[in-house]
Amino acid sequence: MSNHTIPTLHNFINGQYQPALSGASFEKIAPASGRPCAVVSASNADDINAAVLAAKQALQAGAWATMPAQERGRCLSRLADLLEANAADFITTLAEEQGRPRLDMTMMDLPMSVDTLRYFAGWADKLEGRTVPTAGFMGRAMHNYTRLDPVGVAALIVPWNAPLMIAIWKLAPALTAGCTVVIKTSEEAPVAVGQLGRLVAEAGFPPGVVNIVHGMGTEAGSALTAHPDVSKISFTGSTGVGRIIARDAASSFKRVTLELGGKAAQILLEDADLEEAIPGLVMGAFVNQGQTCAAGSRILVHRSLLSQVEQALAAAADAMRLGGADVEGAQMGALISARHLQRVQACIDTAVSQGARRLSGDKAEQPTKGYFLRPTVFTDVTPDMQIAKEEVFGPVCAIIPFDTEEEAIALANDNRYGLSASLWTRDVSAAHRVAACLEAGAVAVNCWSPLDARLPWGGVKDSGIGTDLSRKALDAYLEEKLVSIAL
Ligand code: NAD
Repeated sequence: MSNHTIPTLHNFINGQYQPALSGASFEKIAPASGRPCAVVSASNADDINAAVLAAKQALQAGAWATMPAQERGRCLSRLADLLEANAADFITTLAEEQGRPRLDMTMMDLPMSVDTLRYFAGWADKLEGRTVPTAGFMGRAMHNYTRLDPVGVAALIVPWNAPLMIAIWKLAPALTAGCTVVIKTSEEAPVAVGQLGRLVAEAGFPPGVVNIVHGMGTEAGSALTAHPDVSKISFTGSTGVGRIIARDAASSFKRVTLELGGKAAQILLEDADLEEAIPGLVMGAFVNQGQTCAAGSRILVHRSLLSQVEQALAAAADAMRLGGADVEGAQMGALISARHLQRVQACIDTAVSQGARRLSGDKAEQPTKGYFLRPTVFTDVTPDMQIAKEEVFGPVCAIIPFDTEEEAIALANDNRYGLSASLWTRDVSAAHRVAACLEAGAVAVNCWSPLDARLPWGGVKDSGIGTDLSRKALDAYLEEKLVSIAL
């Protein structure tokens, strides 16, 4: 396919689409075909300066700063309506740029994005400060109250695995709080988020409130996080990059929210209902090709259930139909890039060389073009193996047996990540007991990762700092300012 047939995607700055100032661009490759699907502006520090300036001006003097909270909420609601009306186009775009079956986006990414915008829109006129009684100051009676002010210009840096949904997880609370934003898309999946600019303009957001820039993390991303006029960074991505951002942000005391990697345990206690658990385990391990921060890639099984779980998981994995958006009934898509496929393949090779036994993934057929990988289940895994410790971010899971509840908890917590976990049991007391002991930001019982705009989402340990979603996410974009008046 020649370049002139491929759509171009520019930055969206101050309400206008515009090419990178240097004229530089890069090709985005569609994972299911291996062919280019977009030519995308490659921003440098000059583009980032322009985007941050637009956001700063909109914050300080623009219509956003003076817009009543109700109207801000209405802008968000209009954006939700427009996204819903254009859902089919966004699903098509996401399916192509991510190599995913359309069903994933139809069931999850689009409805959740629309719902998240609506949920936060409802908060816009309900952000109230406090009045605080005191005994007075130096004999004077005092009236103390707090205001909730927007933190300032927020840099929203998103990954490629659920690009639109995660951009909205950040965009919706930031705008509700009254911040203006610069979104930095992932170079691996910039298209759907980039196209949001058109809807932002149509929804009536004043120019400069939402800016969207594309480019490499090391150039555009780092210029954005280092920018002196950015007050808040909300980042979702790898733990390695999160660490760089946290370190750099410390020098200027920027506020940070870091949603990082995971290595979630899915625990099956002795009394687990396998009929219910197996589909949940499969979903947890393989949805979005395992390219999910919450991927339940460590399957901790009571020894009495081990052989049943091994057989059921291997059979489910080998029965999965692979294919991109054009393949009817496909359940699993391609990995995001050739480089990522190589990385995941290397993890599989290491698991085999360290003695893990492969139960699936090497027999069934797979598409001949694109970056596909059969879902792969390992058993005979010990906790010291790389496959049990490190995030793979691919369709690969490891089964590890345990004998007691205490051992299951210890195995689950023996990891540097702490994003989420699942637990399968019919015993209500055991559910509460184990959930309380797991070092994770979220524990799902008898299901896997029930994401919802009203529920907090965030990790502990190397999985990050802070919360996306829920009322709590708003706090990350607000400063509580105290005003004390001597009466
Ligand atoms: P990544 O860290 O490679 O990139 C994420 C974003 O950061 C991209 O937009 C990238 O361009 C940008 N970036 C890269 N280097 C940068 C730098 N030096 N300064 C500023 N920005 C920079 O992550 P990825 O491969 O896109 O995403 C996969 C990772 O994201 C996995 O580890 C996954 O677990 C994690 N993730 C976490 C959550 C969560 O909610 N905790 C959700 C989704 C994904």
